[in-house]
Amino acid sequence: MCGQLDLERKIRLYYGGNITLRINNNSTNIFSLEKTYSTREVKLSLHRIFLKAPMPVIKSLVRFIKNPIEKHKKDIRIFIYEHSDEIELEPRASRPIPVVTKGKYFNLSTIMDRINKEYFRNQLRVMVSWGKAGTVMGKARSNIQFANFDANKNLIRVNPALDKQVVPEYFMEYIIFHEMLHKVVPPTISPAGRLCFHTKAFRQREREFKDFKKAVCWLRENWHRL
Ligand SMILES: [Zn+2]
Repeated sequence: MCGQLDLERKIRLYYGGNITLRINNNSTNIFSLEKTYSTREVKLSLHRIFLKAPMPVIKSLVRFIKNPIEKHKKDIRIFIYEHSDEIELEPRASRPIPVVTKGKYFNLSTIMDRINKEYFRNQLRVMVSWGKAGTVMGKARSNIQFANFDANKNLIRVNPALDKQVVPEYFMEYIIFHEMLHKVVPPTISPAGRLCFHTKAFRQREREFKDFKKAVCWLRENWHRL
């Protein structure tokens, strides 16, 4: 843990130029950089989570300041991800989330309660809601996103395109089970710095769902009806 002056000193040392550092507590401004190339002067604004950044992250930060290309952002992004639970959301973002669980054919909270009992010893605390129509639907099969888990909001959103009579109950259960697993099985970080959500461990757990094969088969044969 180091204070602002300490952090500023370290960054300046590695950078070798003039740096003004501002520490903020603003979830919409976690990391921003203003650089005057002629004078090498840098104005840096960092979220306070960076006060505990380890040396390698600080060095990455300086690499990015020197040469702000995407590749140099990798470690910074991972660091931010790992500390995202310490970033307080703005009042605007922490407003109550509208949650709609009742659809025409499915009640999402009823399904989730059932899954929670059967697979998670009723221990999982997560919200579920129908998403907005047309927001997560793709055209090609590979792009169809049936649901997602928003870790920040602790909310599973389900594509309302699934609220159809043709959709079997076990398929809905599978979709919700899959998203609930995302809360339980954390993503890993690949050597290239990418977040991997569907890890081997995740895929293994997914197969614990009793109608897993049935659900996958149903999707293969019916995706065009969705
Ligand atoms: Zn997934």
